[in-house]
Amino acid sequence: MNIIWTRSIVSLVLLAALSAAIGAFAGVPVALGFAVLMLVVQTFFSTFHTQRLWRLLEAPVYGEVPSALGIWGEIYYRLHKLAKRWHAQVRQVEQQHSRFIQAIQASPNGVAMLDDHDQIEWCNAIAETHFGLDAKRDLRQHITHLVRQPDFIRYLNSHHYEQMLIMRGMGENRQRTISVQVFPYGEHRKLILTQDITELERTDSMRRDFVANVSHELKTPLTVLSGFLETLRDLPLDEADRRRYLDMMDQQATRMQNIVRDLLVLANLEGDIRPPSDDLLDMRAVLRHLENDANNLSGGRHRIAFHVDDAVTVAGAETEVVSALGNLVTNAVRYTPEGGAIDVTWQRENDRAMFIVRDSGPGIAAEHIPRLTERFYRIDRSRSRDTGGTGLGLAIVKHVLQRHHAELDVKSEVGRGSTFIVRFPASRTALRKSLAA
Ligand code: ADP
Repeated sequence: MNIIWTRSIVSLVLLAALSAAIGAFAGVPVALGFAVLMLVVQTFFSTFHTQRLWRLLEAPVYGEVPSALGIWGEIYYRLHKLAKRWHAQVRQVEQQHSRFIQAIQASPNGVAMLDDHDQIEWCNAIAETHFGLDAKRDLRQHITHLVRQPDFIRYLNSHHYEQMLIMRGMGENRQRTISVQVFPYGEHRKLILTQDITELERTDSMRRDFVANVSHELKTPLTVLSGFLETLRDLPLDEADRRRYLDMMDQQATRMQNIVRDLLVLANLEGDIRPPSDDLLDMRAVLRHLENDANNLSGGRHRIAFHVDDAVTVAGAETEVVSALGNLVTNAVRYTPEGGAIDVTWQRENDRAMFIVRDSGPGIAAEHIPRLTERFYRIDRSRSRDTGGTGLGLAIVKHVLQRHHAELDVKSEVGRGSTFIVRFPASRTALRKSLAA
């Protein structure tokens, strides 16, 4: 028997006992009157609280507990506890939902959900930009009324979604390439995932170009080499001719070796960890080394002058810095005609170290300057080849400088020479005083 029945029976028994006692002392009519009065009071009390409960259930006010005596107080208290538990559960579900939405919003990919009529139920901000949608305005709109590209409509209607669709973006994203894939779920509903693959496509095409360029660069000397080999094999040559052919073959082999060497240098630079930022270089020795190399390469055909501020030094990887700065100096020697002048300066500009190579060579037209550091970019192919160039020198320079957070600045005028300036950041620049300290 539960508490309600127990209480009702107890109060009825009490009422009966009290009425009997009153009956014994004051007579049956008074006892009956008392019993009726008690029942009326009880009925009124119950009706009042039933009414209150009804109103409470119709318009619940969370946190408000009506006070009442006896069983009604208990009922209100239990209801309040129940409401509190439900409220906590609803809040938990709401928080989970909002975290879920936040996570999908934070995704770098677009997410759109379609109902069973291909109407937009929800989409995140990225899908909005990819499809040129407005999540609020376009809700419940049929997606093909908004994304009208025929390829997309065909794909959506095909019901074959194993492959993704590559399409142009919409709205402001018209210049971008978007991949789209549909995933059916639930009852004829669809989840659409989108991704901006513009960069991916660009790097892929760069990779293809690079492979084509390398093949082309190696193919030319290889073709020449095999031609010479055929000549040597098939033609009866005198000793002088044989020597001449062998020398030319040697040149082509060296060219291929240089290309492979520079490609390996580039690959190592790309794969290596960043150079140390606290290893100070002995720039005096580095510059002396560069000066020797320049003089050897020039063989006295140019006026070469080095102006070095011994106090300035930088932190980094010595072999990389020597290779980058050396490339700029050897380019100046290689491209400057005999009798020209080359000035190399190592100095400080405010708190940054600066390396300047100025030559009186042919100069570079403005349209070529932004492309000089591209792999295999050359202004004059035959001149580059004649001087033993691979077309990779400035690409290596760019990589090394990037790794040292340094910048390359090229100033040039056709017919008036070129100036290549390297600026190291203050964070990598030091004075010898601090080196000694
Ligand atoms: P390369 O091996 O052909 O020299 P680089 O990457 O070192 O390749 O240089 C790219 C191109 O920039 C060269 O082919 C050349 O046309 C041009 N260049 C580089 N340095 C100079 C310079 N000091 N004067 C004129 N042209 C230069």
